Amino acid sequence: MSIGGTSNATKTVVLFDIDGTILWSDGAGRRAVHKVLEEVFGTTGPANHRFDGKTDKQIVRELMNIAGHSDEHIDARMEQVMERYLEELREELRHPDHPPQRFGGVLELLDALEARDDVVLGLLTGNLEEGAHEKLRVVGIDPTRFRVNAYGSDAEHRPDLPPVARQRACELLGESLPGERFVVIGDTPNDMTCGRGIGARAIGVATGRYSTAELASHGAYAVFENLHDTDAVVRAIIG
Ligand SMILES: [Mg+2]
Repeated sequence: MSIGGTSNATKTVVLFDIDGTILWSDGAGRRAVHKVLEEVFGTTGPANHRFDGKTDKQIVRELMNIAGHSDEHIDARMEQVMERYLEELREELRHPDHPPQRFGGVLELLDALEARDDVVLGLLTGNLEEGAHEKLRVVGIDPTRFRVNAYGSDAEHRPDLPPVARQRACELLGESLPGERFVVIGDTPNDMTCGRGIGARAIGVATGRYSTAELASHGAYAVFENLHDTDAVVRAIIG
């Protein structure tokens, strides 16, 4: 079985990270997490803890472990925290002083990839599904463009996400694709390494907090300063 006229054996599934790769939400997630942790646990944990490359639940667990809370105590409150987090995130994404920005070249790249019958667009993000969709909508991207997705709501541990995406690709396409037909595009070392378990390739983009050299040193197949050069990025994706 195949979709779009090209046999599945030649299809490439492109899995985009969101924060630092597609957009910059100017601290919306951090403000929402801190507000809800203060409310539920009475503390935010350390103010300068790194969030990038992590799943939403992982961030909460790390912050509250550092603040001295046990995993059991955290687990008992995790669903409540995530529910409240999504409410606060929706508000923070519309904060007039911190408008989220879509990075240059992203729309052109998505359009170019979507127009090809040998590419399937997807997401691989630490965001909860609802939070991911909200962030995309706020910067003018329809989340339904992405057809094979793995979210932070699917697994707390990022390396568990590529197998989820692979399973969903199999369900969509009706057959299993080899690991090298999956490409993860992201801005952090965790994005570069998380797909190794399934043999995915990683492409690094330095629009987050890491340089192209740092991303390359973590095994990126290709690195870019940004996603402006559509043709070059598409060539790297197709391999
Ligand atoms: Mg990121």
